[in-house]
Amino acid sequence: MDECLFCGIVRGEVPCDAVYEDEALLAFRDINPQADRHVLIIPKRHLDGLCGLEGVEDSLLARLLRAAALVAKKEGIDKSGFRLVSNCGPDACQSVPHLHFHVLGGRPLSGQMG
Ligand code: 5GP
Ligand code: ZN
Repeated sequence: MDECLFCGIVRGEVPCDAVYEDEALLAFRDINPQADRHVLIIPKRHLDGLCGLEGVEDSLLARLLRAAALVAKKEGIDKSGFRLVSNCGPDACQSVPHLHFHVLGGRPLSGQMG
């Protein structure tokens, strides 16, 4: 996926403000934050999104979810609360076709989900 923006971030070709990294995942601040804390968590391996998970190891998906709590703790929002979002497809306004989870918090969030 040479042309994928987030693959470019994983390869270090596009700069990012990383907050967590391990061998499988990378978490970095969103360039256009929608909350006081807004971090994106991505698998380093390219996956299109939530609808492209057939055959993906459960362990990778579990790591992504666990990383959300880890990032929230690093950002100091684990106690105050946070929201985990993954937009999938056009109706959800997914703009980058590489699986990612938004961790949003640092202020009271809207009660509206859509
Ligand atoms: P989506 O709209 O696909 O759910 O989320 C994509 C997110 O990626 C958006 O919130 C957008 O601000 C963020 N984004 C787009 N380009 C870049 C970039 O070059 N660097 C970073 N850090 N975030 C980006
Ligand atoms: Zn990618």
